[in-house]
Amino acid sequence: MDKKPLRDYEFWLLVGSQFLYGPETLEQVADHSTIIAKGLDEAKEIPCKVVYKATLKTPEEITKWIKEANYDDSCAGIIVWMHTFSPSKMWINGLELLQKPYCHLHTQFNRNIPDEGIDMDFMNLNQSAHGDREHGFIAARMRLKRKIVVGYWEDEDVRQDLGCWMRSAIGAIESKKLKVVRFGDNMRNVAVTEGDKVGVQMRLGWQVNTWGVGDLIKEIDKVTEKEIDEKMASYATLYTFATEELVTVRYQAREEIAMRRFLDRQGACAFTNTFEDLQEMKQLPGLASQNMMADGYGYGGEGDWKVSAMTALIKRMTEGMEGGTAFMEDYTYDLQKGKELSLGSHMLEVCPSLAAGKPRIEVHPLGIGGKEPPARLVFEGHTGNAVVASLIDMGGRLRLIVQDITVVKPIYKMPNLPVARVMWKPEPDLKTGAHLWILAGGAHHTVLSFDANAQMLEDWCEIVGIEFVHISVSSTVEGMKQQLFLSDLAWKFQ
Ligand code: MN
Repeated sequence: MDKKPLRDYEFWLLVGSQFLYGPETLEQVADHSTIIAKGLDEAKEIPCKVVYKATLKTPEEITKWIKEANYDDSCAGIIVWMHTFSPSKMWINGLELLQKPYCHLHTQFNRNIPDEGIDMDFMNLNQSAHGDREHGFIAARMRLKRKIVVGYWEDEDVRQDLGCWMRSAIGAIESKKLKVVRFGDNMRNVAVTEGDKVGVQMRLGWQVNTWGVGDLIKEIDKVTEKEIDEKMASYATLYTFATEELVTVRYQAREEIAMRRFLDRQGACAFTNTFEDLQEMKQLPGLASQNMMADGYGYGGEGDWKVSAMTALIKRMTEGMEGGTAFMEDYTYDLQKGKELSLGSHMLEVCPSLAAGKPRIEVHPLGIGGKEPPARLVFEGHTGNAVVASLIDMGGRLRLIVQDITVVKPIYKMPNLPVARVMWKPEPDLKTGAHLWILAGGAHHTVLSFDANAQMLEDWCEIVGIEFVHISVSSTVEGMKQQLFLSDLAWKFQ
């Protein structure tokens, strides 16, 4: 997979001012902006480069820099800040053209007001409380989607907010490049895995295309024993072999090599397959898909290309974070009154990035599909706060449903369950949480992520222009009904 490091993406700090204050003040504005950009750039919370580009004083300069930002592939977004007062009619023509994610950072160079030092010159230089309000008005007046981050630029929470938004912006940029390879179609008769691929490409940029399973089988046949030996050696470093059936494991290695080659040739980072359409393949890919997901590929079972693409995208947005992100499915519940939990898993394909310990390679029969028993990774998920996200096609628009969850250590050993397992408490509790999920139309397939949070995904939805529904500790059935009703009305006019 050909991926640009996140650090290679730049966010441009564009600072607003005007000529009114004279060259000396403008020099100080530039100096302060350089220091802020450097401080942010070096902060551990910030995943990408922050570059101070210019102090903008005229409509022509503003338009020029916004055009540059649009055109430059390394620029993933702009961060604007009005150190002094920048009359906002100057911004209208430029902002009309803006095609990149847009953040308004409302900060100031100094943390404190210098008691003895403050005079009219100081006030005229440090007046973002004033200038940023003028800028806020024009963005509101133009109905521009933008992120607003408020606070002192050296504070950790401000840097975290900014870093989190940058990841959303990367998601929006990367979305336009995302390709999904579908090996065969969706599982027959299933509704939620369907969707308008043309509409999705128009909105999100995803290129979703199908290849016959025969094309993959040809690739599988070409894999050499030597390549399989190398793949087996790499499995041995990552996983514990808990099976003697090496021929079976070798077949998964063969499938993985073939699928990677196929995807890489297409420039795709996500794929789907279905147990209903394996043709002459001997096993449903289990270990093969799991090991690919660990490397950042997206996967969706039963032809679910939306969840596959979202898995790849969220993995990309959270690159460098360590909690893990996986394709997931709500499978079954433990309904102990007051302690209700959901057990998540899949037929085979759960990403080992969630594993609490070293995953085990095991071979077990698969009840459906009528193929040989496949090798798969079996493990328990680790614990912590996470989200599950489901993208659904509402007909005419997309909705992303995100639920906050607390992942717990599985409360049972479940020695006869032959797949990876993760257990969680959905917010606000399972009874209400499942009610809200069903009310909003969320799928059984989700992306589970310890690294993304609701804010990051909401910002991504806002940038790309799709509906966002959040199920959190404070969600209620009454509130959700009202939100969904109003949202349906509002989207009729989009
Ligand atoms: Mn499934």
